[in-house]
Amino acid sequence: MAKVVFLGLGVMGYPMAGHIATAGHSVVVYNRTTAKAEKWVAEHGGSYCVTPAEAVPDADFVFSCVGDDPDVLAVALGDNGAIATMKPGAIYIDNSTVSADVAGQLYAAGKARSVGVLDAPVSGGQAGAENGSLTVMVGGDQAVFDAALPVIECYGTRVVRMGDYGKGQQAKMCNQICIAGLVQGLSEALNFAIAAELNTDALLEAISGGAAQSWQMVNRGHTMVKNEFDFGFAVDWMRKDLRICLEEAARNEASLPVTKIVAGYYDELSQMGHGRNDTSSLIRRLRGS
Ligand code: NAP
Repeated sequence: MAKVVFLGLGVMGYPMAGHIATAGHSVVVYNRTTAKAEKWVAEHGGSYCVTPAEAVPDADFVFSCVGDDPDVLAVALGDNGAIATMKPGAIYIDNSTVSADVAGQLYAAGKARSVGVLDAPVSGGQAGAENGSLTVMVGGDQAVFDAALPVIECYGTRVVRMGDYGKGQQAKMCNQICIAGLVQGLSEALNFAIAAELNTDALLEAISGGAAQSWQMVNRGHTMVKNEFDFGFAVDWMRKDLRICLEEAARNEASLPVTKIVAGYYDELSQMGHGRNDTSSLIRRLRGS
């Protein structure tokens, strides 16, 4: 069994670290707000440290799941960041959704210290993290991927190496590009159904068995009709993710016309005070509420 450190016990990291501990690995956790680390240790055993640098010297694998680019740079490379005190041969796996540029910075810093680095963003949301059934898109060296795979599989049921560093983050961008257009389409269909006075339960039963079927339709269709959005993947996280997609597209010159429009819609929702709502709340704009 491996010595593992997990940095960031948020909605995603808390249960992901839990699955690694349940599998029998020895886990040390760090969380910026220490009370969450204390709670995690009370629930799962192991121990916690108050800085990443202090937590990692003995670790075989160090995971992070924090927020945006500056947050990953802070826990990995900042004052008291992890990579500077990791032992040679250890592996750093970042599960946050951030830019491919940050993935490159971590990879280079790791290389300089003989530390392997993988960018390994996840998809599947809070439920996927809690059930240990996440999809994980990985960038980095093949040998490093092979070594880390058994630990990543504690929380991921579909773990795919996409190529060299940064490719995991680029794959996650594709995931978010798909979702943006899809949720707007689903919002328009359900708003149309309500205007047409259709029975929305019957509608969702019918079309979720056909070509329009999607994860969003099956898992969010009914709650969208009921105007329930106080759960799930937050609008403000999606705004970050689409900003990252649009920045990458500005570099690779891919055209993202729909993604750009939907990113603006999410900005509107956030300005309306719905930044913590689930991403399926796009339908609120159409209803004007
Ligand atoms: P969250 O619940 O807001 O938790 C964020 C975690 O990161 C917290 O533990 C927070 O510490 C820590 N953190 C943030 N900034 C930090 C900093 N500068 N230094 C140290 N720690 C910092 O977020 P989440 O939903 O778990 O998401 C984490 C990552 O996974 C994000 O990149 C997100 O885009 C991605 N993701 C989320 C979902 C989802 O459904 N939620 C799905 C796929 C991917 P504190 O407790 O002190 O605030």
